[in-house]
Amino acid sequence: MRYICITDFKTLHSNLFNPTIMAPILDKRYFVYEDFISSLDTVIATFKGDHCVMNELGKSVLGDSIYNLQLGSGSIKILIWSQMHGNESTTTRSLFPFIEWFLNSDYFHKYKLYIIPVLNPDGLKKWTRENANSVDLNRDAQDLSQPESVLLKTAFGTFKPDYCFNLHDQRTIYGTPDGQHGIHCSFLSPAANKTRDITPARLSAMNIINHIANHIKVDSNHVIGRYGDGFNANCVGDTFQSLGVPTILFEAGQDDDDYYRTETVHSILKSLQRAIEVIASNDEVDSQKVPSEYHSITPIETNFCDILIKNVSSGNSTVDLSIMYREVLQDDILYFVPFLTGVNDDKVKNAHRIIDMRLNDIAVDFEISTGQKIISNSLDIQIFY
Ligand SMILES: [Zn+2]
Repeated sequence: MRYICITDFKTLHSNLFNPTIMAPILDKRYFVYEDFISSLDTVIATFKGDHCVMNELGKSVLGDSIYNLQLGSGSIKILIWSQMHGNESTTTRSLFPFIEWFLNSDYFHKYKLYIIPVLNPDGLKKWTRENANSVDLNRDAQDLSQPESVLLKTAFGTFKPDYCFNLHDQRTIYGTPDGQHGIHCSFLSPAANKTRDITPARLSAMNIINHIANHIKVDSNHVIGRYGDGFNANCVGDTFQSLGVPTILFEAGQDDDDYYRTETVHSILKSLQRAIEVIASNDEVDSQKVPSEYHSITPIETNFCDILIKNVSSGNSTVDLSIMYREVLQDDILYFVPFLTGVNDDKVKNAHRIIDMRLNDIAVDFEISTGQKIISNSLDIQIFY
């Protein structure tokens, strides 16, 4: 097994967080929703008062409580929601240390944060992107056909935010256009209309993203990416941006074999902190320089797979095999199960792990058939959790 076990992981990263409060959720991509909420309640209880409350916002399709936090006594209002896609938990994990930091910072008196930490608990419990009615909540901004979508839109309407942060995970398929690097995190100032005009709201979001990108790059070799900005009114971020509220899409990605996304949790935390600092500084935004700097952030492409096995003998020739992990939740454990997804896939330029059979004096010990689960003792390709 190439991956560190959970116990090592906890020790390794406990210095980043408060281990007593964070322990139930920080060590895994998947966490038990009820444990998460009670941990959050513990943090909030320490500060409880008029400007630090957690309430039930409403119910999911399956009747689970969806919560919101209202934190801070200031005047700048930010609406933050995470995990509208149930299987995207990294940013939710970042919210924990972010909330602790915020409650202990001077920004508490400058801001009022309205945070929905898990918008889609049903999806979290089944580890699906969609909600319990198999609807992608990020394509429901116009129809508002799902209770979770209505809750978010109502929060937007009643809270009247000055800014919105829309928090997600991205898959391991993203890389730089040249395929040299995976994408650690990416960001988007969504389009506000079909012509993708740089409206004042978009410009403001671009400015914040530029600061975030520069900040994360300072002490790391990670590549920060820019998400595609085709307009889709069914997406929540596009809709809120079109209503004139600067909205930022945060996408927690992954480079190398950080499948628990520990490093990304930390980078998203830093991104959120930087956004808070930038907005508070209220610096003038240059309408020429900001878009040009924003567009110089690396665009992302789908050109990675999880494991690429190159030069595998097959008949008289050789082939390249791409493998992707499927995330399977069983008895509260999230398993990463490798499947063969492509043979000589032109789109795949790189992988989070590469095995070159020219350098290996061993044969593959599985059948080359697309869609098959791949377990290989000779190449150390295993299910892990
Ligand atoms: Zn998402």
